[in-house]
Amino acid sequence: MTLIKNKYTIERNYVTNSKARSGLPINKVKFLVAHETANNTADADAHCRYFQGIQISASAHTFIDDGKILEIIPLWEKAWHVQYAKPIDNQLYGDDANDCAIGTELCRTGDFKQAYDRYVWYHAYLCRKYGLNPRKEIISHRALDPQRRNDPHSWLEPNGVTWDQFINDVDKYYKDWNKEEGLSVSAEKKLQKEIDELKHEMKRLLEQKLDKPSVSDQPSEWAADVWKQQVMQGYFDGSNPKMPLTREQAAEVLDRFADKIREYEVDPLKKRVAELEKQVTESSK
Ligand SMILES: [Zn+2]
Repeated sequence: MTLIKNKYTIERNYVTNSKARSGLPINKVKFLVAHETANNTADADAHCRYFQGIQISASAHTFIDDGKILEIIPLWEKAWHVQYAKPIDNQLYGDDANDCAIGTELCRTGDFKQAYDRYVWYHAYLCRKYGLNPRKEIISHRALDPQRRNDPHSWLEPNGVTWDQFINDVDKYYKDWNKEEGLSVSAEKKLQKEIDELKHEMKRLLEQKLDKPSVSDQPSEWAADVWKQQVMQGYFDGSNPKMPLTREQAAEVLDRFADKIREYEVDPLKKRVAELEKQVTESSK
C-alpha cells in the first residue's frame, strides 16, 4: 500500500520574471487560499510559461493538474493572488493574504478526479507543513473577494464537489496522514526496542560465554551437611554441588541408591531368609 506521503511528488520550476516574483519573504504562513484557474486549456506547465512572460503583478505559488503538482513561486516568498484592498483576510487572519498565505490553483485540463485528488492532497500537505487546521485555515478566493471571484467553487461545483466536501476531503487526508506518521513512528520505536533488547541479550550471552564457569565448588550452607553425608554414601561424587541434575545423572544416582538398598536392606534380608530356611530344613529332618 502506498503511503500517503509518497502518493504524489511536488515538482518545482520557479519562474524568474520579476513581475510574478515579489522577492519578499513570507514571515509566517497563517492560512491557505484555494483557487482555480478558470482556464479550460492551460495545464500546470502552461501556467508556468504564462507567468514567466506576464507583464502585470500576478501569480500564485502552485498549479495542479491531473498529472502534476507544480510550485512556480517558492513557498517562502509572497505571491500576488488576492487583492490587498479586500478586508476579509485581515478580519479573519489579521493580515493580507498575499503577505501570509499560500495560493494554490486547480487547473481545469485533463481528468478532474486526478487533479482534484492532487489538489486535496497538496492542501493537506501544506496544513501539515505549516501546522494549519484544515477546517479553519483554508479559505476560498471567493470568500475573500466575493464581488469579483467565485473560485474554486466555479470548478469544484460543476464537477459535483461542494466547498464543504473539499474541506472534508482535505481533513481526511490530513488526519490519515498524521495517523500514518504516528503509526510509523510507533512501529519504528517498537522495532528499535526489540533491537535494543536483542543487543542486550547478545551482550549478556557473549559475556557469559567469555566468563569461565564460576559455579562454586562449595555447597550452600543449608545443604552442607546433607551434601557431605550423601557424598560419603556414594550417591554423589562431591563435584559441582550447585549444578542442576540431568536425567542421566538422576538415573545414575537412583542406581546407586538402589545398590545401597540392596546392600543394606535386601541383602541382609535375603541372608536372614536363607538362614531361616536352613533352620526349617534342619528342624524337619
Ligand atoms: Zn483565485
